[in-house]
Amino acid sequence: MLTVPHFINGQRLSGEGETPVFDPSTGQVTATAPVADAGLVDQVVAIARSASLTWRDSSLSQRTAILFTFRHLLVAHADELASIITAEHGKTIADAHGELARGLENVEYACGLTEHLKGGFSSQVAGGVDVHSLREPVGVVAAITPFNFPVMVPLWMAASALASGNVVILKPSERDPSVSVRVGELLTQAGLPDGVFTVLQGNAVTVNQLLEHPGIDAVSFVGSTPVARHVYQTGTQSGKRVQALGGAKNHMVVLPDADLDIAADAAINAGFGSAGERCMAISVVVAVGDVADPLIAKIVERLDKLNVGPGNDPANDFGPVITKEHRDRIVDYVASAPADGVSVVRDGTDLASRPGFFVGPCLLDGVRPGVRSYDDEIFGPVLGVARVSTYAEAVAMVNENPYGNGVAIFTRDGNAARLFSREVTVGMIGINVPIPVPISSYSFGGWKNSLFGHSHIYGPEGFAFYTRAKVITTRWPQPSESQIDLGFPTTR
Ligand code: NAD
Repeated sequence: MLTVPHFINGQRLSGEGETPVFDPSTGQVTATAPVADAGLVDQVVAIARSASLTWRDSSLSQRTAILFTFRHLLVAHADELASIITAEHGKTIADAHGELARGLENVEYACGLTEHLKGGFSSQVAGGVDVHSLREPVGVVAAITPFNFPVMVPLWMAASALASGNVVILKPSERDPSVSVRVGELLTQAGLPDGVFTVLQGNAVTVNQLLEHPGIDAVSFVGSTPVARHVYQTGTQSGKRVQALGGAKNHMVVLPDADLDIAADAAINAGFGSAGERCMAISVVVAVGDVADPLIAKIVERLDKLNVGPGNDPANDFGPVITKEHRDRIVDYVASAPADGVSVVRDGTDLASRPGFFVGPCLLDGVRPGVRSYDDEIFGPVLGVARVSTYAEAVAMVNENPYGNGVAIFTRDGNAARLFSREVTVGMIGINVPIPVPISSYSFGGWKNSLFGHSHIYGPEGFAFYTRAKVITTRWPQPSESQIDLGFPTTR
């Protein structure tokens, strides 16, 4: 049986395989992954601290050149990386290419690091006094990532952290750990010095060791809300800078004037793509006024044509979910919906009897606050429809939801859309765009229980998170200007 290695000091390091890694499309164990013990965590942090001493002083042109080469290597190895992702995550090959492309954008943005790391300069703020600012790396960053984007989320973090002179220790999800090792190898091939990027395999225990380790300066986390909250609390209590992105429940509001064919297409794409295992997936369609019945009919028409099967067969629209336990949890949400007065319009849970971890597309009608299928993040191919009478009720539903990652509105009314984007308490908003993941020159992040800490990830906020500011006030006095003055320095 294959054991997934760590990637330490520019090399693979094998460990004892403890965690099973599945091919979710067959349900078979294909490898095992090691769990770093406290000794290895200490060793890796020591390597990182030592690498940080030189990497923080690397020239901006050297970093840019490495990131450019890394970008080319990711493109050249795209097919290989996509097939590793599909084999362990289960998503379709096309979807794996999609996540790689979005991760690549962050590497491309980071290639502009000379611009992103520019400081400011003010001349003659007082007589003979100039001021300039600069940003320095925070040091050693622990990057802790979820299963659902095994290459994109590590690239969200690593690209800007490395570009700004930090050393990164990545703890990928134990469910699909292999692709990060290839990312590490490609960084080394691109010229990144040994020790600057480490992949440490492990689980919750490893994460807790990193969170409390005095040698870690900052933590970037993406995962579920309860763990994000824990990571934020533990990391900040240990004096670290922490950004922790959590789970989601994303609404798609459809106003009565919307083009219902376009809205139905969007609901299918954003609700069932990647088996609904996206933090920006649409999980609730909020049908306003008399929209619900015709919209449901159009969604059903499309849903019945979806093919579900192994991700490496291009005929399939989406693949399996990540584990057997997760599949069973999703099935239970659908099975218990009628008891909550929610009707099951389409029930794809019969696919759960296939080998592998499959659930077919499910459509629930009548979801609402207070019922499990609405309140919880199901994270599967289950789309709910909520019926409301007015625009105001739709906004209230979005704003009263404890999550605030993404939201979309479908309408032809520009003023309603503009008002909506100002009224909702959500971080990322799509106007006739169902999955509004910002391009890399804007940052990604939710509100409320979808983000702990104030910093969004990647883009300008990513560079800000991974750097600390210094402001330097300079005066080169004339030899004759000697004077004693105990007053507070003013600029006037
Ligand atoms: P998860 O929270 O179970 O795991 C994420 C990481 O935390 C993994 O590396 C895991 O090893 C570690 N971990 C798990 N339990 C832990 C614990 N008790 N203590 C410390 N560390 C622990 O998340 P997941 O199931 O891998 O990913 C799916 C979740 O991630 C969903 O909730 C999804 O919405 C969310 N997500 C959010 C975003 C975002 O940008 N907001 C993006 C992708 C995924």
